Amino acid sequence: MSDGYQLFMSPQMAERIRSHGAETFPHECCGALLGRDPAFDEKSAGPREVVELFRLVNRRDDSPRNRFAVTPQDVLDAEKAARAHGLDVIGWYHSHPDHPARPSQFDREHAWPWYSYVIVSVMNGAPAEMTSWRLNDDRQDYSPERIEIRSGAAV
Ligand SMILES: [Zn+2]
Repeated sequence: MSDGYQLFMSPQMAERIRSHGAETFPHECCGALLGRDPAFDEKSAGPREVVELFRLVNRRDDSPRNRFAVTPQDVLDAEKAARAHGLDVIGWYHSHPDHPARPSQFDREHAWPWYSYVIVSVMNGAPAEMTSWRLNDDRQDYSPERIEIRSGAAV
């Protein structure tokens, strides 16, 4: 993929991720990205696209500021929610309170390849930069994924 990865979402979807981050500030928010990916659906040759969100509770009470981790129960709950919408879990999002929207070492160690990882920076309570990443198959590093905001994309 010489063009790199792309993740499509509507302005409303982007706004919902940002406002979740503002809501939980100064703690991290986290959730699942529900949507479509050509890998799951041969009928749709479209791009990977977020069409619904599923909020998760940040269970890391010891360090809720910088310790986002998806548990096996989260995965089950998110997949159930996705099926209810006729969608798949295509990734995960979380916020970085008062930190840049770059994956941390902890993020890398707790991520899986293939999924999209959206990170929104929340500075002083206000949502700032939002980025997306995919962990490489060797799990050593991330590749950036371009977020394409477009209206009326979700059908
Ligand atoms: Zn993080």
